[in-house]
Amino acid sequence: MDCLFCKIIAGEIPSTKVYEDEYVYSFKDIAPIAPVHNLIIPKQHICCANGVDESNSAVVGKVFEAAAKIAKAEGMESYRIINNCGEDAGQTVFHLHFHMVGGVKMGWGPESLGKTE
Ligand code: 5GP
Ligand code: ZN
Repeated sequence: MDCLFCKIIAGEIPSTKVYEDEYVYSFKDIAPIAPVHNLIIPKQHICCANGVDESNSAVVGKVFEAAAKIAKAEGMESYRIINNCGEDAGQTVFHLHFHMVGGVKMGWGPESLGKTE
């Protein structure tokens, strides 16, 4: 399958590994938007949040289990986990992934959704 993140999991494309277990792989985003910016992905190829169903939803729980472990290891109590689903939401890699961003105080408001009016 021609999928960037499947290739990263397979080690065909290098990445800076943050965490790995049977179900989950985590690595540093190549273009960080915050002091901490990890991507957390299931090893199973799922296109996006719309591809989550009864047969594969357990791996999403594994992703959040991993997130808690990663945060603890990084000594990070506050962080945001973001999933972009679909092109209009900004998804560019169609292998389900969760952005873990932190290490900075974050705001929340219309600006974060790209709306300025
Ligand atoms: P999306 O926009 O699909 O939600 O997120 C894709 C993320 O993958 C982006 O934040 C982008 O910087 C990151 N990314 C794209 N290509 C690579 C790569 O080859 N290596 C790493 N580490 N991150 C990548
Ligand atoms: Zn994939």
